[in-house]
Amino acid sequence: MSTEIGTVWFVGAGPGDPELITVKGRGLVERAGAILYAGSLVSAAAMRWAPADCVVADSKEMTLEQMSSWLIAQAGRCQTVVRLQTGDPGLYGALIELVQPLDAAGVPLQVVPGVSSAMASAAAAVESLTLPEVTQTVIFTRVEGRTPMPPGESLAALAAHHCTLCIFLSITLLGKVASELLAAGWSPDAPVVVVHKASWPGEEKIVRGTVATIQALCREARIATQSMVIASPTLGARQWTTLAKSKLYDASFTHRFRRASVPAENLTLESP
Ligand code: SAH
Repeated sequence: MSTEIGTVWFVGAGPGDPELITVKGRGLVERAGAILYAGSLVSAAAMRWAPADCVVADSKEMTLEQMSSWLIAQAGRCQTVVRLQTGDPGLYGALIELVQPLDAAGVPLQVVPGVSSAMASAAAAVESLTLPEVTQTVIFTRVEGRTPMPPGESLAALAAHHCTLCIFLSITLLGKVASELLAAGWSPDAPVVVVHKASWPGEEKIVRGTVATIQALCREARIATQSMVIASPTLGARQWTTLAKSKLYDASFTHRFRRASVPAENLTLESP
């Protein structure tokens, strides 16, 4: 083994199911000399791939400075250091706050993406976040809690687009979510789904309601932590009888890999 300084890998552990880490992320965990994991969020099961002699620490009770000093010290000792983060490291993960001290210390680092809880929640509920002619846009956001929202990013302002909203970190603020959606002109009957612990084996819960009912339904279901709130005009499409179909698979649509088999009314050469 070389005496060179090791690399710190920020690895997305996925949303909870240990099988939802990427093949690359799992490979890094398997050869890690040290792993710092977010104990409150990453399922301990994600640690099942770590080698027996790996140094493992839980970041739950550490400050940012303690975390960066730990990562820097471990990189001086072993070749592969893993920082395991929930979902994808680039979403609400304090990635840059940890990257900057590593850059300053000259420690090489890389980021491995992960399956975000937004994707896992849509999958759990069998929902599509985009649908032709309904919405083609997804916003990842949160409502204002202790972290202030930058100007122009209130939920009411974002909801004015009437697109799909994946709302993180907001399960205790459902009253505020509802009032901002109403302020943006959403109907009280507009569907909202809350997914608690998406993909966690045996712990996942799905609550379906509307802007008007979702808070009471989640209270009844005793859901107050670790949940994704999805508000979208696409919700429930599984049951729709009238659905605009994707052009990509339309028999009259020609694209790079397939010629139209029936004449199109408006033949388009646009990519799908
Ligand atoms: N980087 C993570 C998000 C971290 S912020 C990601 O990409 O998913 C933590 C928030 O993510 C929680 O408040 C909750 O809104 C959401 N979250 C994380 N894991 C979840 C899960 N398994 N199910 C539902 N929501 C989850």
